[in-house]
Amino acid sequence: MQKIQMKTPLVEMDGDEMTRIIWKMIKDDLLLPFIDLRTEYYDLGLVKRDETDDRITVEAAEATKKYGVAVKCATITPNAARMEEYKLHRMYKSPNATIRAALDGTVFRAPILVKGIDPYVRTWKKPITMARHAYGDVYKNVEIKVEGAGTAELVFTAADGTVTRKTIQEFKGPGILQGTHNLDSSIEGFARSCFEYALSVKQDLWFSTKDTISKTYDGNFKEIFQRIFDTEYKEKFDAIGTEYFYTLIDDAVARVIRSEGGFVWALKNYDGDVMSDMTATAFGSLAMMTSILVSPAGYYEYEAAHGTVQRHYYKHLKGEKTSTNSVATIFAWSGALRKRGELDGLDDLVRFADLLDEATIETIESGKMTGDLALITSLPNVQKLGTEEFILAIKDVLEQKLK
Ligand code: NAP
Ligand code: MG
Repeated sequence: MQKIQMKTPLVEMDGDEMTRIIWKMIKDDLLLPFIDLRTEYYDLGLVKRDETDDRITVEAAEATKKYGVAVKCATITPNAARMEEYKLHRMYKSPNATIRAALDGTVFRAPILVKGIDPYVRTWKKPITMARHAYGDVYKNVEIKVEGAGTAELVFTAADGTVTRKTIQEFKGPGILQGTHNLDSSIEGFARSCFEYALSVKQDLWFSTKDTISKTYDGNFKEIFQRIFDTEYKEKFDAIGTEYFYTLIDDAVARVIRSEGGFVWALKNYDGDVMSDMTATAFGSLAMMTSILVSPAGYYEYEAAHGTVQRHYYKHLKGEKTSTNSVATIFAWSGALRKRGELDGLDDLVRFADLLDEATIETIESGKMTGDLALITSLPNVQKLGTEEFILAIKDVLEQKLK
């Protein structure tokens, strides 16, 4: 069989522990036999990050800006224990934080739906993608514990010295205070990422805040989204028959539960934190979740939402059999290959990505799955497979499909 050709390389970011093992298996078993795989390889494994004083992470982010599409393996974010374990020269930042800062992105997370892994919400038939703003609000707050009576004021001193002052509260006794902010530039980036993403998956975009109560703060979010939609995206949405829909957060929550799914839901930082954990759990499992960083400039980075699965890795090192779920990492690869294929006009690469996804889902639906899914599935006659056995089972299905 002739291997599928690529034009532009993918930016490949290797990672750590069990996901690094899975990474190689996916390449060896599911990609290299079928594709003339072109990647520009960056080893973001902790050893290499330490050797390069983390320059490798910055270079990988820069390469993503150059080529446009990256695929990333899960990586260790160093803490005190990792400092000791890897004898690190310093406590490097999370690679995801470095990459997000460089690309100015928004993270989109969507569940991978499979028959037999049932959402807890009966009406959900299609995935709901969560888009969480990753800057500001309560995550960059300033707080004061008020010990007794006094006046709390909000004061802004402009660069030209003009002072704006408002009274927050005349305290008669103890209480609490919190100051939060956001930036128009960040909200604009968030909005563009959401519109770009919704266009790329051809789905409606929902956005919700509490602007009836927070007229200036949340109102600003609502206005920026509406302005950018009207001036930059309305025609593109009309052209493919999708829409942008704003509603209050409490109304949105009720609608989401009654919905069939199949849309992108943009949320402010805190709302996104809370709601994405709820929907992820309601859909099934973190190992069955795609995660994509989209920058407002249209750069894409595909990854798994879970970590390096350290506990399984130590079992693997001891020579014990593991059953680690590779679905999210496979979907990271297929997502990146599909996007590369779309950008380069390579229909057979796009088709390969679709077939790889289908083969993965059909393998699970045939009852062959890893231990984490075997525990929660409603399918009868389940066969619990080891880490590579599962990947090889997918390969069998994929080969049939490619014939
Ligand atoms: P984790 O790797 O997500 O694993 C936590 C637990 O969830 C595992 O022990 C396992 O449960 C289950 N699990 C997660 N992914 C699974 C999979 N693919 N298949 C089967 N089970 C899976 O989180 P962690 O152990 O807290 O973190 C390990 C390292 O990952 C840390 O160093 C952290 O910094 C890093 N991390 C990286 C990213 C990223 O790069 N995107 C994200 C999060 C964490 P059982 O043990 O019960 O089987
Ligand atoms: Mg959270």
